[in-house]
Amino acid sequence: MVHWGYVAPSWWRRPRDWGCPIVTGPTRPGSGRDAAAVAPARAPWPVRRYLLGIGTIALVALVSGTAYGFAWASQNARSVAVGALSFQADRAARSLEHAATQGKATIEDVAAQPGLDAALHGPVKGCALTASGGGPFPDLRLDIVNAAGQVGCSSGKDSQVFAPNVHADSSWLRTGLAASSAIVVWDVLDPVTGQRAAVIVTPVPGTGSPAGVVALFANLAPTAAALAHDLAGSRNASFTLVDEASQQVMSTSLTGAPATAALGQPFPDRQVSGEWTGLDGTPGLYSSHAVPSSDWRVYVGVPSSGVFAAARGGLLRGGIVGLVAILLLGAALFLLDRRVAGPLRAVTRAVVAAGRDPGAPRVSPGGTAELVTLATEVNAMLDVRAGHEAQLEHQATHDPLTGLPNTVLLRDRLEHALRRDRRGARVAVLSLGIDRFRTLNDALGPDAADRVLVELGDRLTAALRPGDTLARIGGDQFVVLCEDIDDAKQAACVTKRLRGCLDEPFHPAAEPVAVSCSVGVSLAAGHEQPPSATQLLREADSAMHQAKTAGTGWSLSDHSQQARATAYLDTERALRAALDRDELRVYYQPLLNVATGRVTGAEALVRWQHPTRGLVPPMEFIPVAEETGQIGAIGAFVLTEACFEAARWAAGGHPLTVSVNVAVGQLRDQGFVASVQAALAAAGLPAARLCLEVTESSMMRASGTETKALEELRRIGVRLAIDDFGTGYSSLSYLHQLPVDELKIDRSFINRIAAGNRDAHLVEAIMGMAHALGLEVVAEGVETAVQLDFLAELGCQQAQGYLFSPPIPAETMRDRFASGHSGQAKGASARDTSRA
Ligand code: C2E
Ligand code: MG
Ligand code: MG
Repeated sequence: MVHWGYVAPSWWRRPRDWGCPIVTGPTRPGSGRDAAAVAPARAPWPVRRYLLGIGTIALVALVSGTAYGFAWASQNARSVAVGALSFQADRAARSLEHAATQGKATIEDVAAQPGLDAALHGPVKGCALTASGGGPFPDLRLDIVNAAGQVGCSSGKDSQVFAPNVHADSSWLRTGLAASSAIVVWDVLDPVTGQRAAVIVTPVPGTGSPAGVVALFANLAPTAAALAHDLAGSRNASFTLVDEASQQVMSTSLTGAPATAALGQPFPDRQVSGEWTGLDGTPGLYSSHAVPSSDWRVYVGVPSSGVFAAARGGLLRGGIVGLVAILLLGAALFLLDRRVAGPLRAVTRAVVAAGRDPGAPRVSPGGTAELVTLATEVNAMLDVRAGHEAQLEHQATHDPLTGLPNTVLLRDRLEHALRRDRRGARVAVLSLGIDRFRTLNDALGPDAADRVLVELGDRLTAALRPGDTLARIGGDQFVVLCEDIDDAKQAACVTKRLRGCLDEPFHPAAEPVAVSCSVGVSLAAGHEQPPSATQLLREADSAMHQAKTAGTGWSLSDHSQQARATAYLDTERALRAALDRDELRVYYQPLLNVATGRVTGAEALVRWQHPTRGLVPPMEFIPVAEETGQIGAIGAFVLTEACFEAARWAAGGHPLTVSVNVAVGQLRDQGFVASVQAALAAAGLPAARLCLEVTESSMMRASGTETKALEELRRIGVRLAIDDFGTGYSSLSYLHQLPVDELKIDRSFINRIAAGNRDAHLVEAIMGMAHALGLEVVAEGVETAVQLDFLAELGCQQAQGYLFSPPIPAETMRDRFASGHSGQAKGASARDTSRA
């Protein structure tokens, strides 16, 4: 086994945790390939996040820029202020030094003056000295003092100056007496003023030792203010003189500050400049300078507020400008969001939505010109893509040869139909396979066979209703899904229609080809459990194969249903033959006048003389004929027959009315009225001798066309009767609207007359209503004399029934007329007899 000498870290051994492709081979940690393999992909940012980022960066830059600007401006203001203060402190120190030098020269001049002796022996009356202050020492006093401390002459006006021995024991005096030339004693308490002063003193030579001194007292109280006035001008600088040795404030221009006080922190550190809290307690900046040849230091200070006011103003201006910039930037970002990011988002949404649903709405172009172009192009691409998807979907669900739905779509629709109709009772599946298709394929070749399939698909489609689905699910196999079929008869009709599509030969090549098919039908109805799509398809398929094997043409998956459907189809087919083979017969049943007992007419009733089934009653084939449309031909036959028969009766001296039953389907036929007129004309029968019977239930279903036909018939003189009255539940008002002459009470009411009074009253009510409407009443199915008597009492005009005669062949009817039953039926005579 080969070892690479390297054990991968645990996170590397499970690369799928990162959602990255596995990179095989010996990679080492830290290599670019390795890092690329494991680094999780960072999701790209949307435009809005970038815009927010730009806004945030701009805000941070603005705030930090403003802060830096403020700090820089503050620092700058500080150094400028300190520089200015240093300059002023230097000038102040020089000014003090200069003043001291000048003072020294002045007093040395005075000391050299002759005649000072007198002033050294005590106060001299009228002596005159002057001392004018200026510069840092505006308040000066010049004294001539003897060695004992007595002032002999002074520029001062205060008498205290001459107080005896006023300066005795003053240290400055001793210093002055011991000096060889003028000196400055910087810190003295002047006993005359009681204030601090600087004294410039020079000895006056005497015999042996100095006899006294000339002293110039400079009051220190106004010094700082004078310096401030001279040097600072309008600037808000304060000047303070400090004796470094004693750490005492000599003079300050600050008002309210203590005259003597320790300066505080900066001084002991001997800082030249810096920040301090001034003597008045205000924070500020200062700079200092030592006064040469002294212990003094000049401090010049300004409050911080004044220094940083400009920086703060700059900060405020910067802040306002920044705010405006931020607002402008915000507006620009908003505009970008609206005009760029918004449309981009819309395009993105449209593309994403269309990715899931090809029918998703397209984006409405907006934003900048490029974005409008992008949106338009994206829409166009989505349209193309939707078209492709629709095409793909069509290909996936349709048969490429015929274009019909394939198994997938058929199953989908079948399942949908079964779901929609929860009981699944109205779904039918018909599986249609071409007989001997392989032979056909071999004989014609695949192309021609394909053309047969395509043409068959077209023919079947044309034969189906719009709601039905025709699918091709295999080589020669088609399946039809019908959604509203619930019995075998309807399925048989559809089957017949489909098979009828193959009646005409196909023309896939030069020679016509006859093609037949077998159909297997499965119905959802009749299953105990709702059937599945698979079950129905399988049943239909096996029924189709069964039909093919048996050669029956079609087969139902349920045999009992098939029997019924087969009988139905047999009847239909046989009826068509019956018309051709003249197997229909018309029987006649007389109608009698109840009062006179005379025959007034007869109802024509059709029968079918079936070769094997015998005489088939109309109820077994008329409904089939009505459904298949054969009623038109049968009705026409009966009508013609009846008209000719009535004409024969008239010719034999019996001008009776003949009643013919008409189905609603006949009335719907546009040419029906014309056919009636033709039948009358052909037989030479007056229209008044023909009565057409329409059942009440058919009348109820009659719409505009049928009602118009009835009105037209009445207009030409044909009588109209409502047949089977009482079974259709028509209302009185409806009855009133109908264009009829007679009302035939259904035999079910007449039958029950004997059973009890309730039905008798019903018949009575019908009779009363018919009379009120001016209609003639015919009672059907009169079988007993009791019924006849009852009807006679009610004033019923006509009756029909077995009491008189059953329906009889035309010849029998004619024989009866010939044998003397001149219009009198047997029942009537019996009644008359019984009454007699
Ligand atoms: P319908 O028009 O009501 O005809 C009367 C039916 O009652 C006839 O039955 C007749 O034989 C029967 N009938 C007459 N008297 C009695 C009686 O006393 N007792 C009993 N129980 N029945 C009696 P049929 O001939 O079987 O005809 C049945 C129906 O077939 C007719 O009823 C009619 O609606 C229809 N029908 C007959 N022929 C034609 C036709 O040519 N065209 C159309 N459209 N329908 C016809
Ligand atoms: Mg009738
Ligand atoms: Mg009837």
